[in-house]
Amino acid sequence: MAEKRKYKKRYCKYCEAKVDFMDYKDAGALRFSLSERYKIMPRRLTGNCKRHQDMIAVVIKRARAAALVPYTVTRKAVVTAPFENLK
Ligand SMILES: [Zn+2]
Repeated sequence: MAEKRKYKKRYCKYCEAKVDFMDYKDAGALRFSLSERYKIMPRRLTGNCKRHQDMIAVVIKRARAAALVPYTVTRKAVVTAPFENLK
């Protein structure tokens, strides 16, 4: 047995939810694809399909420009569950 994989199931959560359009104002929908430092998670970790990953990248960048999602997080302010206070 090699080391345990951190992300075991690989399926596109957005395909499962049948997402055709993403709104940059809906920050809660982006939470699957942002790391705890608000970086965009790579597709190889999230299992998102190419189509949705491209949508997400655009939407997250829009959300950043609109200051809904931070660009950077300082070392002290790293949150373990960034979207807990949403909703
Ligand atoms: Zn998908």
